[in-house]
Amino acid sequence: MQPSNETALTNVVPAGDEIDAELTRVRSPWQRLGDLVFTTDPKQRLRITRSLMSASVFVVCVGLIVYCSYIGLMQPEDGFLLASCIFVSCTGFYVALRTGFNRRFRDPALTLPQIVAALTWICGAYAITNEGHGGTLMLFALVLVFGIFNMDASGARISSAYAVVAMGLTMAYKGWTDPEHYPVKIEWMYFVFVVTIMPTISQLAVQLTRMRERLKAQKKELETALARIQELATLDELTGLINRRQMLQLLTEHAMRDKRNALGFFVGIVDLDHFKRVNDTWGHGVGDEVLRGFAQEARRVLRETDVIARWGGEEFLLIMPATPPGHPRTGVERLRDCLAKLQISTSVPDLRVSFSAGLTSYRKGEAIDVAIERADKALYEAKSGGRNRTIEAE
Ligand code: GH3
Ligand code: MG
Ligand code: MG
Repeated sequence: MQPSNETALTNVVPAGDEIDAELTRVRSPWQRLGDLVFTTDPKQRLRITRSLMSASVFVVCVGLIVYCSYIGLMQPEDGFLLASCIFVSCTGFYVALRTGFNRRFRDPALTLPQIVAALTWICGAYAITNEGHGGTLMLFALVLVFGIFNMDASGARISSAYAVVAMGLTMAYKGWTDPEHYPVKIEWMYFVFVVTIMPTISQLAVQLTRMRERLKAQKKELETALARIQELATLDELTGLINRRQMLQLLTEHAMRDKRNALGFFVGIVDLDHFKRVNDTWGHGVGDEVLRGFAQEARRVLRETDVIARWGGEEFLLIMPATPPGHPRTGVERLRDCLAKLQISTSVPDLRVSFSAGLTSYRKGEAIDVAIERADKALYEAKSGGRNRTIEAE
């Protein structure tokens, strides 16, 4: 049975491609290490890469914490506590992404939690860096920029609101408890900065998200259109069988592969008998119904490895690999028997159709046209010999 032309098409992938695919499966030690750290799933790789990129910024921050502790800008125990929090949160996010735990959430990139955590640690850094605290505001903006690439509109708004509230509270607390290092006059100015810059970045994120969504929709439309074009380019619209152009390509591929295949293959041409009469007697609509019915029956009856295409009009071309059991001719005769019993038209229930066929074995190295011509001659013999028969070329 031939379930679909798709199956038939996959059967004719050249062996060379299989070898290439096998080669790409052989990974270098570096690639294997990359797979271990980032997984082999492209989406997870991207998520982990982004998370580790932001973690690398934190590595620099931890270096600065050590430096600040060394020069007396912050209490070493405060620095240690903050560095520990950063380490635990980065490790936690990496483990969640690497184990696939993140897939349970609506946003598997865990963008919002990562951003909220990062903003929290920066507020912490702001609170312990005394005179140097103004510099941490730069990191604050950087965190939201990271989020721009992966956040939806609501995520962008939530994180910017969190940034303003968390930093506002930190500033108020420090201005209240440590006015020497956090003078209210200056804190007020920094707060205006935060209130202006954070929502602006979040608005950019919203615009970027909309643009991304539009692009995604366009990509989907293009993919659908491309699939349709490919279908139109390879399939016959009336019967759903592969068309002449696609069949010629398959024949060429079969001929190329035949050099490595001892058994070879057969080429057959099938032509419906007195089909003009069907059109003339019952109309073109019934003629079309017969062509569709024949194609469906051929796909049902022929072997999975056989390929049938609409060659033109009421002519069909067959590729039949000479794989045992049975001669390809038996497949054609089985189709003839089934067709003789088939009610092919619902509007003309008594209508039965037959076909004539020319069959030839492909000879190694010959041009494919030569084999087709031989099959065509055999078909002509079948027609002139009385139709409803198969002739095999010598
Ligand atoms: P023979 O047994 O010698 O093959 O005779 P025939 O009548 O089958 O062959 P002929 O070449 O004289 O006629 C083929 C007819 O097929 C003529 C054409 O109008 C019809 N035909 C070709 N394509 C289509 C199609 O897509 N739909 C329909 N309904 N008819 C078609
Ligand atoms: Mg014909
Ligand atoms: Mg005909």
